[in-house]
Amino acid sequence: MTAPTAASPAPPFGHSRPSRLREAHAHLAALGREMAFVALDDASSGDDALQRLARHARETPDDWVIGVGARPEAWPERAWPPAAAFDAALGARPSIIRCFDHHALLANSAALARAHISARTPDPAGGVIARTPSGEPTGLLLEHAAHLVWSHVPEPDSDARRTHLRRAIAHLASLGFTEVHDLLSQPWLGPELARLHDAGELTLAVRLYPLAPDLPAVAASAPGWQRPGLSLAGAKIFADGTLNSRTAWMLHPYADPAPGLERGKPMMTPDDLRAAISRADALGLPIAAHAIGDAAVRAVLDAIEAVRPRARGARIEHAEIIDEADVPRFAALGVTCSVQPCHLLYDIEALTRALPHRLHRVLPLRDLLGAGLTPGQTLLFGSDVPIVRADPLDSIQAAVRRARSSGGPRIAPAQALSESEAWQCFVHSDGP
Ligand SMILES: [Zn+2]
Repeated sequence: MTAPTAASPAPPFGHSRPSRLREAHAHLAALGREMAFVALDDASSGDDALQRLARHARETPDDWVIGVGARPEAWPERAWPPAAAFDAALGARPSIIRCFDHHALLANSAALARAHISARTPDPAGGVIARTPSGEPTGLLLEHAAHLVWSHVPEPDSDARRTHLRRAIAHLASLGFTEVHDLLSQPWLGPELARLHDAGELTLAVRLYPLAPDLPAVAASAPGWQRPGLSLAGAKIFADGTLNSRTAWMLHPYADPAPGLERGKPMMTPDDLRAAISRADALGLPIAAHAIGDAAVRAVLDAIEAVRPRARGARIEHAEIIDEADVPRFAALGVTCSVQPCHLLYDIEALTRALPHRLHRVLPLRDLLGAGLTPGQTLLFGSDVPIVRADPLDSIQAAVRRARSSGGPRIAPAQALSESEAWQCFVHSDGP
């Protein structure tokens, strides 16, 4: 879990924090697992990072030692630690350090050996194994090459999963949340949360959205694990990609598109979208559709309009860019808009470079309220933790000020909410 310092919220906000906060877009298992890794986001140098990993290795019997959130660019040496230093610090324990942006990792020799990566290993599609002049891997693995090592890190067992979930729940509760929506629920998540509930350890209400292909099996098992405050809520689908990779699907071309992807990349056809909505509806459940670009948002609204599902509660997740013409369709079709304004604090440079012509359509929260959405009921705030941190003040900052607390450009300031309206988007009325 990493947070650029630029995203740190600047009090003072006048409004006091309401009770009954809802985190409407989280990944509980990933958050808990991430919290079990060694946090390196505030490491002062590569040497400091290695010392932290070595300390963790001494304190924990686990096999792999994993550090996350590293920012070599911010270290005085502006470089990854040399392989010899990494090996000296961690010895025979396989160890990796992941870059904060998830696009690179450094593996020690033991980790490279576990993954069978040697001078003879070719670069995988979409990835690079960095090498010395003589061809030996340096330990730095870029993009898809990182999977070569990650795929050898063992999945947590049931005990470890519950430990991770306890940590994630305690963390969210400490921020004032009493309800959380999990937007990519693994089929094992409901049963594990039920065990925590039955042991009196589930202190939050949790609503689960498994991936659409998992929905039939999860729905069939739900009567066995649903509890008061723990329920299956819908099916997650992906209509497009992400802004940072320029795969969010846009109505207008990017200023700096990825090769061959002028307007990004739809992940589902209109037929796929309608079929997914119909299949979930047949089980009495709504969909929650990841749609970041304005074309993806429109495609999901079109599909909902065509299917007219009977299950209430269809949601669009992220909705970072929304065309004027589509704003009134949310309320008209009964679609909830689930946004994470905090991402604005991280994405300002990417938005300015990629979509200078569409900045006025970024998170049009004022328009959505004007078109009939209700804060906390049909306009929901969340964070997408652990992609970014879950502190609700980050989204309050973004929704109210439309800029970082450190200043800089304001994005679509006409779409700002009042502080009280912004907090209401975090508040739930029903619940445990
Ligand atoms: Zn997410």
